[in-house]
Amino acid sequence: MAKSPYSLKVGRVYIHKKCKQGTQVNGADFEGLCNPFKLCLGTVCASCGGPRGLKTFYWEDTKEPLDTYRKRLRTKVPAIYTYWWLWISPLIGLIAGSLIGPMLLKKSTLPIVAGSAVVGSLIMFLIVGPQVLMLIAPKKYYKLR
Ligand SMILES: [Zn+2]
Repeated sequence: MAKSPYSLKVGRVYIHKKCKQGTQVNGADFEGLCNPFKLCLGTVCASCGGPRGLKTFYWEDTKEPLDTYRKRLRTKVPAIYTYWWLWISPLIGLIAGSLIGPMLLKKSTLPIVAGSAVVGSLIMFLIVGPQVLMLIAPKKYYKLR
């Protein structure tokens, strides 16, 4: 995968398939959109709004759909990144949540244990997991074409 001159400041343009209009994305939005370990289900079109599914947009320069691009990026880094993001980190959240929740609420009925486990794994999957990954393996995903 070739290095590219993309910068956070300038960003990159993606096209909305339906209306063929371009949208310039930059800064933190650009960084988040390109980080395949941050959950991103859709983005907006500057011309007709949104948010809409990532697969309805493609990069102007490479013509690659945004969802395909993000999936491909995950194959370009060590597989452990994906294991961590999809399995290890949510599993830690599941176990931690099922222990911490009942402790805080001073009740350990099944719904509380199960609910805390779900909350724990979601927090890990959506927030902590991706953050930790960026801490231990910082990577400028947006630089990858
Ligand atoms: Zn549009």
